[in-house]
Amino acid sequence: MNFNNIDFDTYFKNYPDENGFFGKYGGSYISEDLQKAMEEITEAYFTICKSSKFISELRRIRKDFQGRPTPISHLERLSEKLGNVQLYVKREDLNHTGAHKLNHCMGEALLAKYMGKKKVIAETGAGQHGVALATAAAYFGLECDIYMGSVDIKKQAPNVARMKILGANVVEVTHGLATLKEAVDAAFAAYAKEYKDSIYCIGSVLGPHPFPMMVRDFQSVVGIEAREQFLEMTGELPDAIVACVGGGSNAAGFFAGFLNDPVDIYGVEPLGRGPALGDHAASLKYGEEGIMHGFNSIMLKDENGEPAPVYSVASGLDYPSSGPEHAFLHDIGRVKYDVVDDDETVDAFFTLSKLEGIIPAIESSHAVAYGMKLAEKMGKGSILINLSGRGDKDMDYIIEKYGIR
Ligand SMILES: *Cc1c(COP(=O)(O)O)cnc(C)c1O
Repeated sequence: MNFNNIDFDTYFKNYPDENGFFGKYGGSYISEDLQKAMEEITEAYFTICKSSKFISELRRIRKDFQGRPTPISHLERLSEKLGNVQLYVKREDLNHTGAHKLNHCMGEALLAKYMGKKKVIAETGAGQHGVALATAAAYFGLECDIYMGSVDIKKQAPNVARMKILGANVVEVTHGLATLKEAVDAAFAAYAKEYKDSIYCIGSVLGPHPFPMMVRDFQSVVGIEAREQFLEMTGELPDAIVACVGGGSNAAGFFAGFLNDPVDIYGVEPLGRGPALGDHAASLKYGEEGIMHGFNSIMLKDENGEPAPVYSVASGLDYPSSGPEHAFLHDIGRVKYDVVDDDETVDAFFTLSKLEGIIPAIESSHAVAYGMKLAEKMGKGSILINLSGRGDKDMDYIIEKYGIR
């Protein structure tokens, strides 16, 4: 398929290019020390991860440990309620640990093992990435250092406990605002010192090359499975697919299966409390080009050009930028990025739970909310939504803040 002069038959060969660029986005804007480490990972990725031994071991792990393939469910009662469009969900809530993040963490940790590294290092904000990586580290017998701001450690006690039970070392970061940004800085600094024995594991399609590519490739299992399953279930492709976008890993992996198909693709960003800066995290809708955390993308900036404060009811979506591939797909128009706000999201959280018996993660509820609106607009056809995770982690907070609807 050809789209705005981009040939999607050869897309994965050409994007990113050898320096990690998707058009003008991506790249690697980091210190020389870290650049050496990234080059080592890139080289290992292109040799080890393309070997049949690595591929077959990862396949076995996905089946025996993660419980893949995850199914697609037809949302019969919700579809009926909304009219004539048929809605379906890809069930990443049923992936081990309850979300898609384990897909790339298992890939990254298996690569670490093949590279002879002893330790994996990462930062975490809400703790979801930390828990997924701690799970992978436990599985492979690797050490695991998770950097976390002291403010987040207090807020996310259950995830901190999970990481510790899984044997990870949670490193408290106390400087500055002591949240995600400081944790990223501390984790990068530690990695620059320790990279001979360790590997950094980024939690989304973010950061310097090769991470946006590597994380997308590990997550593409979601889109590849979903395409096959949907064809088998219905005999056709969906008319539209929808995923929520924070950093953009679940969306990138899901979209990868359908980029070369005549399928409308929608990425959904969190509008939070509304369009004023600081009230949302819709970076692709309201942001501008800029460099942060080692890569060029579209980001939300404050008046000094620094990453702006962001907000969303979903802690997994409150990041002031998105992966470079999303910025590229946005600019060429292959994917349409749109927003839903907190209220629409919370409604979708309760609607899906009541009508279908699936409690979605509040992040994934953004995609469900958008899918519901899209169904009313389309009037006919089918929509496949990526349900990136389950909502057990969100129940206490949602009930406290919104009550039971
Ligand atoms: C972390 C998370 C997200 C957001 O991350 P992406 O990289 O944008 O996919 C979405 N859904 C769930 C369930 C998450 O845990």
